[in-house]
Amino acid sequence: MTTRKSIYFFARGQTEGRADMKNLLGGKGANLAEMTSLGIPVPPGFTITTEVCTAYYANGGRWPEGLDEEVRAAIRRLEEVTGRGFGKTEKPLLLAVRSGARVSMPGMMDTILNLGLNDETVEALAKEANPRFAYDSYRRFVQMYGNVVLGVPSEEYEKLIDEVKARKGVELDTDLTAEDWKELVQRFKQLTEERTGKTFPTDPEEQLFGAITAVFDSWNNPRAIRYRELNKIPGDWGTAVNVQTMVFGNLGPTSGTGVAFTRDPATGANVFYGEYLMNAQGEDVVAGIRTPEPISKLKEVNPKAYEQLEEIRKILEHHYKDMMDIEFTIQDGELYMLQCRSGKRTALAAVTIAVDMVKEGLLDKETAIMRVDPEQIEQLLHPTVDPNQELDVLTKGLPASPGAAVGRIVFTADEAEEWAARGEKVILVRNETSPEDIGGMDAAEGILTARGGMTSHAAVVARGMGKCCVAGAGEIRIDFEKKEMTVKGRTFKEGDWISLNGSTGEVYAGAVKLQQAELSGAFGELMSWADEIRTLKVRTNADTPRDAETARRFGAEGIGLCRTEHMFFGENRILAVREMILADDEEGRRKALAKLLPYQRDDFYAILKTMEGLPVTIRLLDPPLHEFLPHEAAAQEEVAKEMGKSVEEIRAKVESLKEFNPMLGHRGCRLGITYPEIYEMQAQAIFEAAAQLAKEGIEVHPEVMIPLVGTVEELAFLKARVEQVAKDVMAKAGVEIPFSVGTMIEVPRAAVVADEIAKEAEFFSFGTNDLTQMTYGFSRDDAGTFLNDYREKGILRFDPFQTLDQQGVGQLVQLGVERGRKTRPDLKVGICGEHGGDPDSVKFCHRTGLDYVSCSPYRVPVARLAAAQARIEEKGQS
Ligand code: PEP
Ligand code: MG
Repeated sequence: MTTRKSIYFFARGQTEGRADMKNLLGGKGANLAEMTSLGIPVPPGFTITTEVCTAYYANGGRWPEGLDEEVRAAIRRLEEVTGRGFGKTEKPLLLAVRSGARVSMPGMMDTILNLGLNDETVEALAKEANPRFAYDSYRRFVQMYGNVVLGVPSEEYEKLIDEVKARKGVELDTDLTAEDWKELVQRFKQLTEERTGKTFPTDPEEQLFGAITAVFDSWNNPRAIRYRELNKIPGDWGTAVNVQTMVFGNLGPTSGTGVAFTRDPATGANVFYGEYLMNAQGEDVVAGIRTPEPISKLKEVNPKAYEQLEEIRKILEHHYKDMMDIEFTIQDGELYMLQCRSGKRTALAAVTIAVDMVKEGLLDKETAIMRVDPEQIEQLLHPTVDPNQELDVLTKGLPASPGAAVGRIVFTADEAEEWAARGEKVILVRNETSPEDIGGMDAAEGILTARGGMTSHAAVVARGMGKCCVAGAGEIRIDFEKKEMTVKGRTFKEGDWISLNGSTGEVYAGAVKLQQAELSGAFGELMSWADEIRTLKVRTNADTPRDAETARRFGAEGIGLCRTEHMFFGENRILAVREMILADDEEGRRKALAKLLPYQRDDFYAILKTMEGLPVTIRLLDPPLHEFLPHEAAAQEEVAKEMGKSVEEIRAKVESLKEFNPMLGHRGCRLGITYPEIYEMQAQAIFEAAAQLAKEGIEVHPEVMIPLVGTVEELAFLKARVEQVAKDVMAKAGVEIPFSVGTMIEVPRAAVVADEIAKEAEFFSFGTNDLTQMTYGFSRDDAGTFLNDYREKGILRFDPFQTLDQQGVGQLVQLGVERGRKTRPDLKVGICGEHGGDPDSVKFCHRTGLDYVSCSPYRVPVARLAAAQARIEEKGQS
């Protein structure tokens, strides 16, 4: 039983809910209440809370006690307000029953319209409006109810419609008469009864209770569950149920329905943006079955409704101070709002709108920064179609979601998932998409549809995913059987390459060239506001001058991790590396290391130069040696030849170096302890490169980082050697280079004894990849499979290798910072695991007092924004 109020009513002057009650009323319910209070025309109704849904599940799928009486009371109230009667044969009250979770899950859960119709009430509706409309509405109800509540596949009803059309020799639904629909209603009911073994409910109350239960149940249908997984929505929130008086967009030519955004959701431009269909019910627009008209055309068709919409647009933007997504219906020339919510938008639109709204005086800078989802802005950094090339334009659709996509054609969502799992880049090509396609859309590089408008399912979902989408490319004909599509006489088969330009709607044959993104305009402005506010610095993980340059362009303030081992794999180098590992003694190793030295020096020279004036943390060799060993015969022969040994000797040595647990084996500083000459060579390369640059007048700040340290003795042993090399190189070159030696904290023991380690370390960098691996005891390389099970079974809510586990691993980070700074108050502390680019983890790092986060180049702006948000959130709490 629920203890709180279960039902919130909304009607002019009697509204009980508010916009800030989304957790309880769901987004839709809360905003219907808010709009009603703002004096906007909303058909009256009531919302059953999300708590009731949760209680329903806790109660084993049964209604909480007393809910039936409360629903009956709310219906009586609705009858009074509307002057209509539920189940009455005069002025019958008809209802829409819709789901509405805290956050929007478009099309994922169920809706039932026209509820309350039966053989008697339909007659009353026929008298009030017209018979054709009444019977069409009735058959829509039976079809929807039969499908959603009773589980009869929709196609079976459609087949019956096709039969009647064929018999009458007509093609369109609109060619069917009242009598035809009347006949179909009876056949629909028969079909439903045959399939379910039950009589179709004629009692409106029974219909209503069934529909409410179906909405509760739809919270846990497979596609809703999948959507929640993709969007990190908790499974225990539940959905609210909105029961609302029906208004009809299909009453005739002066009726219609539409969806709109108060600004352009693709570009963010401050223009009223939307689509409508006359003589249609809401679902027709979203399903993308008929291609709707642009909203500007409504100005001619129904100027009064258009003006009213424009007015509502202004009221809503000023009230919510946000770009809103609205749904409306015009019933016989009269406008009604059915929904408003914060509009889903592309990253470009999010940034443009936030910046514009500051300039319009609607938002302050801090609120604008909080409005943009850091996770989303990576989209803006990705390449677009390079205009400097010959483009083979196949056709043009609507620019539904910007960016560019290059991939091979697949025609089903399942195939998109399969191909992507094999590492193929694919473009999902469909007539239109439906909620079942969500997994395939996620797996595809881009989405192309032949039908549907800017607010079709494909367009809305793609924008939410930040995925390039071209919708409504009407010249495309798809033959699903043959797995091919034709466009203006040209045929493309599954697997053929095409490219999409989501910003223009163009579709190209073949794989086009892409170009780098720029950090300019509104984006540049927003990022500069973020930089003014944030205190946490952002560095990058980069191993090549090219990555370093990209990251600098994106605002990196240094390199937090340069993994030197990646340089060992280069051509000419790997052989020398293998020689070094396989050498029998120090002399042999030194010989091989001498070959590597000039390469390493060149690498460091280039990177330090690119990062002129900024700190560069260079980590000495870390990975298990087996990663470098020659396992194939040809490679073994090559090494044998180079070293003047037999292949057998080499094979035996490779065998002897095999480890059962390489990630916990001979790696990191353990290599440096066994073979100090490796680290000495690397230090020599670093300082010689730095000395050369210093002589050229280029400012350098190398920071030498020792990996996988667990005891202060390991660090002391290696630090002394690095410092000796530095001293020797500087003396020889006659220059002073400012540098420091520090360590990674990635073995749990290091975090615990951080006070000891800080006696030697001049900086810490948390390697949270290894720290997570060793804290959970989950192998970084093998955990993928069972972590999926953990997610599915609710054991873990997130992947700890992506988002820092603040409760466990995060505590070690906190401990390490506290203890380290106890010994050395000015200890510089950063993080360089993958978590450094994850917004939630970045915020944790800010709160924990880290000096910087370091992440991959494309995540740098994400981290800058998240760091600013962390600072704003902190200020809000103090
Ligand atoms: C880490 O362990 O977090 C880290 C950054 O090092 P690597 O991923 O190279 O082991
Ligand atoms: Mg590591």
